Amino acid sequence: MKHDSELLLEVQNLSKRYPLRRRKPLAPREYVFAVNDISLSLRRGETLGIVGESGCGKTTLARCILRLLEPTEGRILLRGQDVTHLRGRALREARRSMQFVFQDPYSSLDPRLRARELVREPLDALGKLSRTEADAQALGLLERVGLSATQARQFPHEFSGGQRQRIGIARALALRPQLVVADEPVSALDVSVRAQILNLMADLRQEFGLSYLIISHDLAIIEYVCDRVAIVYLGRIVEYGSVERIFQDPRHPYTRALLAAIPRPDPSVPSRAEDIVGDLPNPSSPPSGCAFHPRCPYAQPICTKSVPPLTPMQAELLTSGGERQVACFFADTLPPIEVVS
Ligand code: SF4
Repeated sequence: MKHDSELLLEVQNLSKRYPLRRRKPLAPREYVFAVNDISLSLRRGETLGIVGESGCGKTTLARCILRLLEPTEGRILLRGQDVTHLRGRALREARRSMQFVFQDPYSSLDPRLRARELVREPLDALGKLSRTEADAQALGLLERVGLSATQARQFPHEFSGGQRQRIGIARALALRPQLVVADEPVSALDVSVRAQILNLMADLRQEFGLSYLIISHDLAIIEYVCDRVAIVYLGRIVEYGSVERIFQDPRHPYTRALLAAIPRPDPSVPSRAEDIVGDLPNPSSPPSGCAFHPRCPYAQPICTKSVPPLTPMQAELLTSGGERQVACFFADTLPPIEVVS
């Protein structure tokens, strides 16, 4: 099959399940699906957001894609190459193209190493550069993310949260990856420095030809930096498409509720009303049918019996070629979202 050269990453029907403890010695084994039959793709130079509440499976999905966790089912293709079952050296080679930026920069950095050594470490492990060359590259990267030669000699505890995240980004870029997966990259930072880090990431995307997979629970961040977004609920994608279309006209009731919850700093800007009730259900015993039905204001009897497939929006098939997909029986007929001022 011909591979689309614009596609950097393809995830096909990926699942990650964990066995639960048996209730009785001979009872059949039950499983909890942290990630359930997820398919998505990422083009070169694109930023894709993965959004959902805590515990929805978005971090597990990211870790499976990076092969930090073994998926139970499905395939991961990087530049058309199946990396799902790579081992040893082949896996290490593939991992060079995929790097992780962690949520908490402090706990992800070795406190005994100086900033320059932290960025140089992956280059040393690769063993292709002399110490002087690796040192120069590390310094160059630190400078590029806004840190000085003096700061390169400092330890992690001597930096602010934003500066530590800059070190984390420089370290992630050391091996010149094509894909950077960032898990809540600014949620641990002061609001005042979040925009600086997001702007830095956007600049680096251009300069280094990166594609980003950004994991976040914060739709305001996704709107700011992403081209497309996948909304995840209880391990499944429920809405998938361009940020522009989804933010303009969300079609899944869960997306609508998430959008309505975005705080509006300017009280004169109208917000959208769409409340959901209750908490995320326990993933080990998900509701029958559409897993969102106990919280959905539009639920009908069919929603308790059948799982709605993720399908292209019929109303947009001609205009978007089916790019927007929604897992709701009534996506095409829901009323426009109500705007309240
Ligand atoms: Fe709500 Fe039914 Fe759509 Fe699920 S399928 S989101 S319960 S309307």
